[in-house]
Amino acid sequence: MTKEGAVEIVLRGGRLLDPQRRVDRIGDLVVRDGVIQAVVWEPCNVRPSAEIRVIDVRGKWVTPAWVDMHVHLREPGEEYKETIATGTAAAVAGGFGAVACMPNTTPVNDCAAVTQFILRRASEQGYCRVYPVAAISKGLRGEEMAEFGELREAGAVAVSDDGRPVMNAALMRRALEYAKAFDLVVISHAEDLTLSHGGHMHEGLVSTKLGLQGIPAAAEASMVARDVLLAELTGGRLHVAHVSTEASVWILRQAKRRGLPVTCETAPHYFTLTDEALEGFDTVYKVNPPLRTRRDVEAIKEALADGTIDAIATDHAPHSVLEKDTEFQDAANGMIGLESALPLVLNLIREGVGDPLSILAKVTCNPLKILGVPCGGLEPGAPAHVTVIDPDAEWVVEPESFLSKGRNCPFRGWSVKGRAVMTLVDGLVRYPVA
Ligand SMILES: [Zn+2]
Repeated sequence: MTKEGAVEIVLRGGRLLDPQRRVDRIGDLVVRDGVIQAVVWEPCNVRPSAEIRVIDVRGKWVTPAWVDMHVHLREPGEEYKETIATGTAAAVAGGFGAVACMPNTTPVNDCAAVTQFILRRASEQGYCRVYPVAAISKGLRGEEMAEFGELREAGAVAVSDDGRPVMNAALMRRALEYAKAFDLVVISHAEDLTLSHGGHMHEGLVSTKLGLQGIPAAAEASMVARDVLLAELTGGRLHVAHVSTEASVWILRQAKRRGLPVTCETAPHYFTLTDEALEGFDTVYKVNPPLRTRRDVEAIKEALADGTIDAIATDHAPHSVLEKDTEFQDAANGMIGLESALPLVLNLIREGVGDPLSILAKVTCNPLKILGVPCGGLEPGAPAHVTVIDPDAEWVVEPESFLSKGRNCPFRGWSVKGRAVMTLVDGLVRYPVA
């Protein structure tokens, strides 16, 4: 523990929101030696001293640190787009105290050496906790399975070929079986490439108008259906990444009603933007799965409201101008999200999609549960991973000021409300940086 950890921090008078225990009341949170030492409901009269730092957080929300279970940190291999240092700095600035990073790096995270490299780099240079997601197949080629036992041992929390689907159903079946044996969740990038091939945006009225080849909603939903059936067949835990369509929601809702071991996530852009954003051919809106229709957006919100969608993750995908400042057809897919997600998630609360605890669960305890990581919440004795939010802070999204190297943010210039004002990881103030 560094010197700072020896200082007691008292977060005084905030609205403590702990989704795990359904706690929502005003109190003080006392942090010491990296853990939550006490939660005090009666105002305590601790005076600031050399050993005690008292921070007035009246009017602010104090939540467990947010968890983004789907980010691309680009290291190793594409450090010009992002590094573990810059990506995790962006995370804590956005209120996230932990991220799970996808394996489509160079080299691919398909062996213990790469998983260990990521964890080592994260502990040396990272600002937040990093949970590596390893590849399902070697080289993400969809042919030969990676060694799940070795990856698990090295510290991987899940397996996924994210960025690409596992097209071979027999391989996906075996992956679910092996993952079950090693207690890993399989994260599905649900896309039937034979349907999506050649597409640049959602297939519908807007793609027809723009003359761009589309990706039908069925390219996603048909793979969701296949993977749900394989989860049922194997009993392996399936998590569907970045759900974007109404039809996917129907399938997942039914799977959950039937008690299958299936969870899923969506991303802020899928409940905030539609395919109409592409009318100016701005490549910043090019993402996979693509932005869908108003109707899909409403279906995603309903699924967030009724619990069909368990988690909100950003799919933070930084690119340099080289990949984005090009013809629409040639541009890379992906958007950054770590530093713009929080106000968009709070919008769900303001719109009445869910109460604060049910929405906050999707960015705190739910993703941790899915990844099989213990979630302590705001309970005494738990590691002090805490986010302090000013829910009323109004600000304008300016990607130039982001800590991420990526500037491919689709919310540039938006006036938003709600901001992380402090992020503690293991009791240390990792944002703002002193
Ligand atoms: Zn993906």
